[in-house]
Amino acid sequence: MKKLTTSINEAEAILIFAGAGMSADSGLTTYQDKEGFYRDYPLYKKLNKNYVSMMSCQELLADSQFAWGYFAHQYKLYSEALPHEGYKKLLELCLSKEDYFVVTTNVDGLFKKAGFSANCVHEVHGSIHNLQCSIPCHRNIWLTEGINVEIDYSTMKVLDTLPCCPKCGFVSRPNICMYGDTDDSYVWEAADENTKRFKEWRKKNQHKKMLIFEIGVGAEGLKRHSRMYREVFSDATLVRVNPEKESIEYGDMINIQTGVKDAFVPL
Ligand SMILES: [Zn+2]
Repeated sequence: MKKLTTSINEAEAILIFAGAGMSADSGLTTYQDKEGFYRDYPLYKKLNKNYVSMMSCQELLADSQFAWGYFAHQYKLYSEALPHEGYKKLLELCLSKEDYFVVTTNVDGLFKKAGFSANCVHEVHGSIHNLQCSIPCHRNIWLTEGINVEIDYSTMKVLDTLPCCPKCGFVSRPNICMYGDTDDSYVWEAADENTKRFKEWRKKNQHKKMLIFEIGVGAEGLKRHSRMYREVFSDATLVRVNPEKESIEYGDMINIQTGVKDAFVPL
């Protein structure tokens, strides 16, 4: 803990890599294990659907009322979720430093809702708060805001007319990088703006004393990023926050084996 306090006090800038575990304390299930998914959606078990099949662009094209049953429910959950205290503490910490940046695979929008600047948050998989055309006939996105469709929970199908593309009238979809997506089917350009911002941020802060937080990350890809970026900065300390025990630890990495709220609220 002393090492952590020293690293926090000495840091000039903060870089955060956050995965699904970041939002678990806000009541959003991580769906890492199949059973967690089926606890929330028992009907999908009967229908032999899993998280991967529901987050697939093929499912959307096969039966859009059914696919939107899942998206609309997720949108409702994410819209109603409130950022927990850990988000607020983390933001206070970021604002007390010269600069910060967040890279997250989460599509729930909770960093922005907690007050993190949109220019400093890179949602690498997109966001449920944005829509795109399913074809897509054009490469723009628009806000999901105001969508209020009724779901028949016995079939998980949307009963109302689905939100459509304002240009061609075809069904829209969340601007989230889904399983089976290609660069053609996913409108990646919005997220790409923040890829550029992140690149500039790294260059600007390359020689600052950097504190890198890897928070609630299960996916190996994002873990690899946090390790890789530790080498990019001339003086960086990596802090991993995860309730799961990690089998591989790296050098002087600080490991906090707890949930996010418990890790940040006492700071
Ligand atoms: Zn369209």
